Amino acid sequence: SAFEYAPAPESRSVVDIAPSYGLFIDGEFTDAADGKVFKTISPSTEEVLSEVARAGAEDVDRAVKAARKAFEKWSALPGSERAKYLFRIARIIQERSRELAVLETLDNGKPIKETRDADLPLVAAHFFYYAGWADKLDHAGYGANPRPLGVAGQVIPWNFPLLMLAWKIAPALATGNTVVLKPAETTPLSALFFADICRQAGLPKGVVNIIPGYGEAGAALVEHPDVNKVAFTGSTAVGKAIARQVAGTHKKVTLELGGKGANIVFDDAPIDQAVEGIVTGIFFNQGQVCCAGSRLLVQESIQDELLDSLKRRLSTLRLGDPLDKNTDIGAINSAEQLARITALADTGEAEGAERWSAPCDLPSSGYWFAPTLFTGVTQAHTVARDEIFGPVLSVLSFRTPDEAVAKANNSQYGLSAGIWTEKGSRILAVANKLRAGVIWANTFNKFDPTSPFGGYKESGFGREGGRHGLEAYLDV
Ligand code: NAD
Repeated sequence: SAFEYAPAPESRSVVDIAPSYGLFIDGEFTDAADGKVFKTISPSTEEVLSEVARAGAEDVDRAVKAARKAFEKWSALPGSERAKYLFRIARIIQERSRELAVLETLDNGKPIKETRDADLPLVAAHFFYYAGWADKLDHAGYGANPRPLGVAGQVIPWNFPLLMLAWKIAPALATGNTVVLKPAETTPLSALFFADICRQAGLPKGVVNIIPGYGEAGAALVEHPDVNKVAFTGSTAVGKAIARQVAGTHKKVTLELGGKGANIVFDDAPIDQAVEGIVTGIFFNQGQVCCAGSRLLVQESIQDELLDSLKRRLSTLRLGDPLDKNTDIGAINSAEQLARITALADTGEAEGAERWSAPCDLPSSGYWFAPTLFTGVTQAHTVARDEIFGPVLSVLSFRTPDEAVAKANNSQYGLSAGIWTEKGSRILAVANKLRAGVIWANTFNKFDPTSPFGGYKESGFGREGGRHGLEAYLDV
């Protein structure tokens, strides 16, 4: 089936990481024009994994030129031909999924259980899904001849390196665009392995270009006059800077930014199931998820029972070596991110919220943060408002459904929400009043390539995934 994958073992010997990697431009690996490099490390051990070429403005220009040249032929191919390449890429991802899962876990710090069971199957599924669209665009209500936009400049974050790449590259290629993608500076490796997969699939040169580097390379890509479409996932601050940068140009833009998702638990919810959903909602990927359920809104009458049960469950989570298949909580992605999480949690305490952390021994090297809860939180607290992007849950209570909706919507963000109740009518009534792009009922953090994903308010605009995800790459 399209969703099969090889189970990844926990050993790092599965993947062969070279001591150095180049930029991938016009089908070849190459040094940066100025010869600059940077190191990528494993956040769970601080071991250097590899040295990677660091793109600058000149490299961005080379990559955009290669993508522009490739666009002529790629966009002229019949959709059925483009589909063949995408299907081939999807199959190679499945074949190499053990290697890719271990690589992603090493470079990112997330548990192998997650890369193996969530990231990699979803990556393959996105390529299969958009491969299926490539030859059907003419007949799907887009008019006789929907046109690709041209060169897509894509900038992605470090929390789901390969999955964010799939969300961006698969729809772009299916619709006939070519791509220059900049991975995040702390997680360049899986994107470079993907470049190798493009070669293995025989993808024409220049259709996909991968340029690892820092924010300066991202900014140069966004700025480049020959880029037609900008797609960004990352912080709201950088998203706003990009929106300002492209204002007044011809460029189309989609932005997937931060969140402060409300997970709303009503008094009739099945408590054990809700506890599992709360844990998945905020501790999946150490909480480094834009749609994380980082605010728990619990109905007052069940608050004590729910919190007791949640604390018991959190005490059983295993934190440690991300390559161990029994690990639930891996490392934080970088020293910077750990410092941000620590500072925000300290602010929560200083502002008077009550802090509780799951009992666990933190390894002596690497970047770690124990699963943490804040109770006694009001809407005035920083931990109720700011995105922490870490394993920290803020607990607030409510009495009535209207109060739950008002509190959930009291946020600058509007990406995700969850509703826990036995009443189907309540799910519909509450969901219709929530200002969030994704709403789960009696589950959380479930993803599917057929479903559009994106935010309201400062969580960004545009949708990725599903049929809507194609529209961001087409003129119709
Ligand atoms: P960031 O927004 O700085 O980085 C995301 C990507 O943008 C990286 O590839 C980075 O190199 C690039 N970038 C940085 N500055 C740029 C610029 N001026 N122009 C173009 N590209 C640029 O995010 P971060 O510093 O890694 O994380 C900071 C915070 O952002 C986190 O604490 C979290 O709150 C949030 N975040 C959100 C997501 C998400 O999925 N929505 C992902 C990562 C981080």
